[in-house]
Amino acid sequence: MSTTSVLDTIGNTPMIPLRRVTEPGMATVLMKMEAWNPSGSLKDRIVKYIIEEAENSGTLQAHQIIIDASSGNTGIAIAMVATLKGYRSRIYMPETKSVERRKIMRTWGTELVLTSGADQNSHIWAVQEAAKDTGTFFYLNQNGNPGNVLAHYHGTGAEIYDQTQGRIDCFVAGVGTGGTLMGVARYLKDKGCRASIVAIEPDDSHSKIEGLLHFDGSFVPPIWDRSSISEQIRVTDEVAFEAARRLAREEGIFCGPSTGAILSVALAKARELGSGRTVVAVACDRGERYLSTKLVPE
Ligand code: PMP
Repeated sequence: MSTTSVLDTIGNTPMIPLRRVTEPGMATVLMKMEAWNPSGSLKDRIVKYIIEEAENSGTLQAHQIIIDASSGNTGIAIAMVATLKGYRSRIYMPETKSVERRKIMRTWGTELVLTSGADQNSHIWAVQEAAKDTGTFFYLNQNGNPGNVLAHYHGTGAEIYDQTQGRIDCFVAGVGTGGTLMGVARYLKDKGCRASIVAIEPDDSHSKIEGLLHFDGSFVPPIWDRSSISEQIRVTDEVAFEAARRLAREEGIFCGPSTGAILSVALAKARELGSGRTVVAVACDRGERYLSTKLVPE
C-alpha cells in the first residue's frame, strides 16, 4: 500500500475472528482492530475528522492551539495529527493515567497539563475553563462535538457493516465519550440492522480501566444518548485486566484493559447467542501503552 501521509492510514482497520478464547457452540467473536490505527487507538478517526471539518469550515486557524481533555488516547491522536498538519496542541489529562501516555504525547511535541486524580473529571473542568479564550485556543471538545459521532458513523460503523455484510447480532464497546457506540449504533440502525448494542463501563470511579467513564452522575458526555443502547454492563478491573492478558497470550492481540473489559462481555454474549451468530467487539488501544501498570506481569 502506498500513501501520501500517515493520515491516509487512519481507519479501514481489519476485523479479526477470535479462535482460541472462544469455545464450540459460541457465536463468532470478531475484534475490530482500532488499536492498529497509526497513533495506536480508536481516537485517530475522530481527531482527523474533527480537525479537517474545522479546517474546511474555517473555524480552525493556523495560529490557534488545539486543546482537549483526554484520558490519553485522544491526546496522543491530537499530538500526532497536529504535528502532521503544523498546529500546536495542549492536552489536559488526569495525573493518574499511565506514564507511557505522557511520554508519547511529549515525544510528539504536545504540551501536557496534568490535573487532579481525586476527581475523574478534573481534566474536563480544566479544559472548559481554558476554552473560554477562543482567540488562543481551538477546543476540539471530543465529549460534545457531533464530529466524534460522525467519524464513527461514516468510519467504524460503515466498515463493520461492510465487513460483516450486515450480519451482526451484537456490538460491544466501551463508553469514554460514547462516540464509538453512538456512531456505530446509528449506522447499524440506519441500515436496518437489529444488532443489540452493549456499552461497557468500569464498576467504580477509581477504576484502572483507563479511557472508560464510570457514570457517577457528575458528568455525562453531551453526545451520549442512552436510548441508542440496549444494555449497559459494569466490569471490574480484575476481569478486564485478566481478559486483556488472555487476548495477548491466546490470540496474539496485545491491547489495553478497556479492550479486556469489552472482550469479557463479548465472550459472555457469544455464549448466550450461540453458534451461527456474530458478536463484534472493539479493540481500543495498544497494550504497550500500559507497560508500567499491573496489566503486565513483573
Ligand atoms: N477505550 C479507551 C482506552 C479509550 O481511551 C476510550 C476513549 N476515551 C474508549 C475506550 C471509549 O471510546 P469513546 O470515547 O468512543 O466512547
